[in-house]
Amino acid sequence: MDTIFPAWPPSTLAVANQTARYQVRRIFCVGRNYAEHIREMGHEPNTAPPSYFTKFPESVVESGVSIEYPPGTSDFHYEVELVLAIGREGFDVPQTDAQNYIYGYAVGLDMTRRDLQLASRDKGLPWDTGKNFSQSAPISVIQPSSNVGHPREGKIWLEVDGKRKQDSDIGDMIWGPDQIIADLSKLYTLLPGDLIMTGTPAGVGPVVSGQMLRGHIDGLEDLIISIA
Ligand code: MN
Repeated sequence: MDTIFPAWPPSTLAVANQTARYQVRRIFCVGRNYAEHIREMGHEPNTAPPSYFTKFPESVVESGVSIEYPPGTSDFHYEVELVLAIGREGFDVPQTDAQNYIYGYAVGLDMTRRDLQLASRDKGLPWDTGKNFSQSAPISVIQPSSNVGHPREGKIWLEVDGKRKQDSDIGDMIWGPDQIIADLSKLYTLLPGDLIMTGTPAGVGPVVSGQMLRGHIDGLEDLIISIA
């Protein structure tokens, strides 16, 4: 196909024990999904349905990379999250069938310009500039569910320079992976290549240049990122 400007390469992620890569189509993110994190952000948990925002596929970076400290912020935060990699098209997926739409799992970081996000939130404006920017979605190697099954509990933690900052269990999500897929697929037809970042536990905080982040979820490969 002829294109006016040179075609750019797709964003892709490595898959464990496989040479073929996973092409990223869209990135959906869930907000406010662990009670203790909701409290640390100044709200009380309630029964409201999950809230969503998105990131460009181009914001993906792989484990092992050094990312730039982004422009426009002086409060650059980590948020470690379980990532679902969708492998099958589905609209209005029943919760009981949701596992069949998940190709695999990964450890992700929803990197956030917290000062911009909070300024937007407090004015009732969209979160885009706080959440969706270059290199804002570091993601580990994808583990196919054929290798690791469908983890629904297990430790999730994040360390900065070897110090534990976030320490929780993916079983503590308010909306689990199956509920998220059932809910989100009422709003969008999910497609192979879609990633869903499922929200972060308590303990979010800032990082500065020169620091090293390690994200962990039991059964998956650690995500390691440094800040240039
Ligand atoms: Mn998040």
